[in-house]
Amino acid sequence: MGTSNPLPLRRQVPDDKGFFGKFGGSFVPPELQKEMDAIYQAYQRVCRSHDFILELRAIRKHFQGRPTPVYFCRNLSNKIGGARIYLKREDLNHSGAHKLNHCMGEALLAKYLGKKKLIAETGAGQHGVALATAGAYFGIPVEIHMGEVDIAKEHPNVVRMKILGAKVVSVSVGAKTLKEAVDSAFQAYLNDPVNSIYCIGSVVGPHPFPLMVREFQHVVGIEAREQFLEMTGELPDNVVACVGGGSNAMGIFSGFLDDPVELHGVEPLGRGAKLGDHAASLTYGSEGTMHGFHSIMLKAADGEPAPVYSVASGLDYPSTGPEHAYLKTIGRTEVATVSDDEAIDAFFRLSRLEGIIPALESAHAVACAIKLAKERPAQDILVNLSGRGDKDLDFVMAKYGAYADREY
Ligand SMILES: *Cc1c(COP(=O)(O)O)cnc(C)c1O
Repeated sequence: MGTSNPLPLRRQVPDDKGFFGKFGGSFVPPELQKEMDAIYQAYQRVCRSHDFILELRAIRKHFQGRPTPVYFCRNLSNKIGGARIYLKREDLNHSGAHKLNHCMGEALLAKYLGKKKLIAETGAGQHGVALATAGAYFGIPVEIHMGEVDIAKEHPNVVRMKILGAKVVSVSVGAKTLKEAVDSAFQAYLNDPVNSIYCIGSVVGPHPFPLMVREFQHVVGIEAREQFLEMTGELPDNVVACVGGGSNAMGIFSGFLDDPVELHGVEPLGRGAKLGDHAASLTYGSEGTMHGFHSIMLKAADGEPAPVYSVASGLDYPSTGPEHAYLKTIGRTEVATVSDDEAIDAFFRLSRLEGIIPALESAHAVACAIKLAKERPAQDILVNLSGRGDKDLDFVMAKYGAYADREY
């Protein structure tokens, strides 16, 4: 018999070793590899069980408040003229962003495995807050490793984590930021891999994390596709999402991979195209291996991860999940860039015209949608609004207060 029914694209990758084409895999020390294999086996067994699926569905509905709505931006669309811009409102997911989707999945897996502690690193603190939320829900202790510099910079998130009961471990070696926090968290995990579990914050890291996080975010794409069809009777022409590590983008993209829908990943161009001024790894990076996986990354002269920058701290990561590298390479996705200034303009534009204050990360996707809308007046554009902007208000007004006086 011929194989006239190929697997959907989402089911074709990764392979059993975690490869999306040549990207992904697991590049970790042998003692850690043993744990990754154990997590993968447990994941395959547990996550397909009926009890697990039922419990996660109940959590999505009653705790997270899912499904989140799809919303038509009438005012913004009218202002541009022609194209129709819609938002998938992940900002209305409990705790204000999409990250809780994979944190609840990871913590539920930990519960099924009898783990006594959740360990993670955090940079800007968003992942730490989402995981602390999940830990409180399940009654599992949470330990968040965070660089001393980030702790000072991201005070409100540190306070949130503490209120939610998480232990924040201050990391004071090296540059005292995300890289050192990752090393410290992995070390803590390796000290007790039987009783603890590492919970990664995006579709990055060694196999099976890019797969697991994508699957926990897949709910966004499933809902969005159904809701859009119900609202309009058709699929959108374009789906747009910002890409840091790539979890919110993989969540929504994974609902449309086999459809005639253009998928646009948006990277932060920051202050410009010079290395160190942006975090557009797919746009300007090259193949390389870091943090336990192979992907496209921004490298400094010595081959180490380059310093990166974006006004949106959730996007300043020097690489991208391996599935994004794969989808770009096979031509399934388009990658665009948006500068700080364009993102800030979109932040105010959406706030003024629709009464929705987006996270600075999400504002990058909105800015890209505005550009697309101008070029494609006959098309529908669905944006994944990954989070709300409450966390960014003070920073935006202090640095970009003049934008508040403009007309939108
Ligand atoms: C963390 C974060 C992002 C970036 O992470 P991805 O894994 O690329 O989705 C985007 N938006 C918000 C609101 C975030 O908190």
